[in-house]
Amino acid sequence: MSISRISVLPVVRGGRKALVLGVAGTVLGTALVGITASPASAYCTSGMVKWQSSGTKSLAANTNFPSGLRNGLKGGLTQWNRTGSGLRYAAPTYTGGWQIYTFRASYSYSSVMGAAPGYAATQRVGSRHTGGTLYLSNRFRWVNASQDISAGKADVQTVVVHEVGHFTGLAHPWRPHCSDGTAYTAAEKASVMTAIGTGTRRNLNSDDIAGVKALY
Ligand SMILES: [Zn+2]
Repeated sequence: MSISRISVLPVVRGGRKALVLGVAGTVLGTALVGITASPASAYCTSGMVKWQSSGTKSLAANTNFPSGLRNGLKGGLTQWNRTGSGLRYAAPTYTGGWQIYTFRASYSYSSVMGAAPGYAATQRVGSRHTGGTLYLSNRFRWVNASQDISAGKADVQTVVVHEVGHFTGLAHPWRPHCSDGTAYTAAEKASVMTAIGTGTRRNLNSDDIAGVKALY
């Protein structure tokens, strides 16, 4: 079992190439025949690993996990619970015995995080994972409000929903992760998997929902 690093967050990715335009539709009578190059569900899974099984995943954090971060942690987890998907994230458990859990949250800093506020480290078994640690950097000032990453201020749920998306098996829809050659669609730009530097992005959009439903 090896530890695999799969994340890094909230910096707006600068690169953006021109959208691939769809083939023009042809109107035949009242029927519209067209092909679009950008699929309605364009989420990306390149390089990511998903859970070894579906079902309910229970995350635990130590009782010293800051109380001010707990609502955002729960919100970022449970956003992924969607009808039609076999995956569920239970509300976090706070326990002094958290080491027994394979899926954990830690309010600490790991050097592999670099300047990122959040980080997802999975316990990879082949092409799947069985758990890991979600880090929230104690080098940031955490708020339940608009974040400003360059100023060292991070919104809890915005960061958590993104990192849990990595545990779910989703990549950044655009650089540096995604290399599937599809266009960078409007839905992808609005996805929680597209990191933002300022503001909040706490709730799944259509692209994220399509992704979790397809994976589980
Ligand atoms: Zn990320």
